[in-house]
Amino acid sequence: MVQPQVYVRSHQGWLSRQRSRSESSGQGSAVRPYPDSLIREPSLEGATVGRIMLTGIAGFIGSHLAEALVRNGWSVRGVDALTETYSVAQKRDNLAALAGLPDVDVVIADLARDDLRDLLDGVDVVVHLAGEPGVPASWGSGFATYVERNIVATQRLLEAAATAGVGRFVYASSSSVYGAEKKTLVESAVPRPLSPYGASKLAGEVLVGAYAQQRGLSAVSLRFFSVYGPRQRPDMANHRFIEAMLDHRPIEVFGDGSQVRDFTYVADVVAAISAAVTAPVPPGAILNVARGEPVAVRDLIAMLAEELGAEPRIEHRPHRTGDTPRTEGCADAARELLGWEPVTDLRTGIREQVAWHVGRRSRTQPSSTDATVHILPRPRCSAEDTGFDEVRQGLR
Ligand code: NAD
Repeated sequence: MVQPQVYVRSHQGWLSRQRSRSESSGQGSAVRPYPDSLIREPSLEGATVGRIMLTGIAGFIGSHLAEALVRNGWSVRGVDALTETYSVAQKRDNLAALAGLPDVDVVIADLARDDLRDLLDGVDVVVHLAGEPGVPASWGSGFATYVERNIVATQRLLEAAATAGVGRFVYASSSSVYGAEKKTLVESAVPRPLSPYGASKLAGEVLVGAYAQQRGLSAVSLRFFSVYGPRQRPDMANHRFIEAMLDHRPIEVFGDGSQVRDFTYVADVVAAISAAVTAPVPPGAILNVARGEPVAVRDLIAMLAEELGAEPRIEHRPHRTGDTPRTEGCADAARELLGWEPVTDLRTGIREQVAWHVGRRSRTQPSSTDATVHILPRPRCSAEDTGFDEVRQGLR
């Protein structure tokens, strides 16, 4: 298996990995760079406009990213299969929020099955966020879906992107590729995922590395840490906790609540992805996107309750197999390579997310059927296979 490689800028160029804060304190390990011959400046450095193919555009992070990219002058071709992993209505609402934006096309297509060649026509950059998220469902027979949506889809897209000669490929990886480390997580740590989900995201990263090394694709993997904020997925902790408190229901906490997460606000994640689109990173670079100020889940609940003026009733459930006890990411490499800094403190981010939950209860949501998102013809769509017909109708 190809081990992930990590780069940062040095006075000699992209040849060595700089010691991060946590490595200086004795954590982390040395990494070997890719061969010099593959290290080159990306053709998109300094570019400000062009066409980006954004996969997973209807999802939580993807819908925010689309808005930011358009604001920055990019033309966006979004691709999403509108999978039923969670409410398709929520994904339609995310798309509806993009309907008024110029330069956004949305293609309903399955990256694991559909022909991708036409989709990449005229595309300068691919940002690949589409995937099957979540740890619990990845065990047992559920893993087949993760193989298809996280591994097969990623390899097909990499192949198509390398063939089309896109200038940059940005891959959404996850802190779940790390194991049960007690230390601050640095990219050079040997990945030991605790769940099939983590293994599937790591497989994607390894594939990205292979296409960078062997096919000259200017690719970068970003490891996101517990992203939160408006439009968050309903299976995620903040979302579940806020909704439970708004409904005066008990909050389900898996384990004793002492597990620690490095909550990173979605706008900060979007800023990191946007920077990775053009930053001069070496092919195959892997970067943590983490705030670096971890918080115990029980403390998060206390903050959320304060914000909502609620008295939380907590019901503890058994620890879920595959959940990591602690994630704390070191983002020094992203700071150095992307010029990125997470700027949103947890209190501010929570306030934004709470406002979104409260707001969507009190106002009439834009209905997905009102959306004027332009749907391109799918390259090869078998409605019987995918069941997308109904969804497409709804968006017209
Ligand atoms: P999300 O589920 O809201 O968005 C993913 C989107 O991908 C969905 O809209 C889904 O319909 C689409 N999709 C899935 N399979 C597809 C396929 N085969 N073809 C086309 N579209 C497909 O998830 P999110 O929270 O926005 O996460 C985005 C990415 O970031 C995922 O790859 C996830 O693994 C990664 N990630 C997220 C977090 C987090 O905290 N949210 C943390 C680490 C990594």
